[in-house]
Amino acid sequence: MKPAAARETIRRLWDDSILPVLCDYVRIPCKSPAFDAEWEARGELERALELAAGWCRALPLPGIAVDIVRRPGFAPLMVVEVAGDESRPVLCYGHLDKQPEMEGWSESGPWQPSVRDGKLYGRGAADDGYALFSFLAALVALHEQGISHGRVLILIEMCEESGSDGLAEYIGHLAPRIGAPQLVLVLDAGCGNYEQFWCTTSLRGLAGGNLTVRMLRAGVHSGDAGGIVPSTFHITRRLLQRLEDDAGAVQGDAFHVPIPRQRAAEAAQAAAVLGGDVYAKFPFTAGAGPLGHDPAQLILNRTWRPALEVTGAEGLPPIAAAGNVLRPFTRCKLSLRLPPTCDSAAAASALKHLLEREPPYGAGVAFEPELAADGWDAPRHPGWLRDSLERNSRAFFGKPAVFMGEGGSIPFMAMLGARFPEAKFVVGGVLGPHSNAHGPDEFLHLDMAAKVTACIAGVLADQEAA
Ligand SMILES: [Zn+2]
Repeated sequence: MKPAAARETIRRLWDDSILPVLCDYVRIPCKSPAFDAEWEARGELERALELAAGWCRALPLPGIAVDIVRRPGFAPLMVVEVAGDESRPVLCYGHLDKQPEMEGWSESGPWQPSVRDGKLYGRGAADDGYALFSFLAALVALHEQGISHGRVLILIEMCEESGSDGLAEYIGHLAPRIGAPQLVLVLDAGCGNYEQFWCTTSLRGLAGGNLTVRMLRAGVHSGDAGGIVPSTFHITRRLLQRLEDDAGAVQGDAFHVPIPRQRAAEAAQAAAVLGGDVYAKFPFTAGAGPLGHDPAQLILNRTWRPALEVTGAEGLPPIAAAGNVLRPFTRCKLSLRLPPTCDSAAAASALKHLLEREPPYGAGVAFEPELAADGWDAPRHPGWLRDSLERNSRAFFGKPAVFMGEGGSIPFMAMLGARFPEAKFVVGGVLGPHSNAHGPDEFLHLDMAAKVTACIAGVLADQEAA
């Protein structure tokens, strides 16, 4: 692939065609089904699909076929197929459903596209509206240079922000068309900066649930009972200490995995690129700082180690309504991030056992597990793919690609990984510093998006048959 010509084609497509269609897309309040019980009647998801399908059909790309697939009980799914070499099939993934509005937009609102400073502001442009258009722009760039590529099947989901409810059903339904992809390209992830290609190599899993500690049938005067009746807050603290030490590190074999040497080396490389930005991006209050200052260790903390947060509580009145009472119970919602290859179901039952065994003072202690989700560790990249990512990042960004895990989860990745064990994955994205997907002022960094598109074109051009 000639990089200069590819850059030119992709720039032109982004400026003349993709940016306008993304502006139209931002205007559609196509919230994911979980955030709009009336989504079917409202038809906004259908409008977004029609907009995207119309754009695809007008594209000068021979061998393109666009279908909207529907399975009862699920939001529809768009399938775009581009004919190519059958010996190296490619599966691409993106989604067009959106997060809800959120408050706090500063200039334009969530449904008003606004280009400022090289960024397209508006809900859904970066998460994940651009993905479909990027994949197809990459293919147009190859087509213009007469470069062959594998047969490409692009799946565009309308339910990602609701936990990819129907994706397994659709993938099962489409199994004969999907076949056994050699390469899976996903554009729905983060990036550490806007200066190079970031390849996500792992995602964390999650175990969570509600911990209830009960001591009394009703609250009593704390002056009367304090010193006789144990506080449920004190007991909750002691129970959480079984899980987390004074330094904030989660203890217990069930919640840890050995960190692969390659992943530790990649974390060190990413740390060299990011330095203090690993923690500086968070809105610390004056004087507050991170758990440590070694960027490589912080990256491993965030990607390959467990981390606990208490995300909610009950049994505690708001301060204005708090009297001197010894409260009858304390209830906490626990969210435990898990390393990529940790068995989340085993972790959840270990957590239950750890918290419920030998309750102090015979307190009523119950842990009800809620969700458990496995993380994902990318299969090792073959030489051609790693070289291709490196070379294309240098060609289009002038800097090498960076390989790093993500601290969050993408619910469908574990499922795709399990379903296509032979496939190699490139998981990239544009959700970098301050892009604020899910929050106010979400933006798409337009230069980043065009360069990521060019890198995807490069990878498709370089793909070798397995
Ligand atoms: Zn997304």
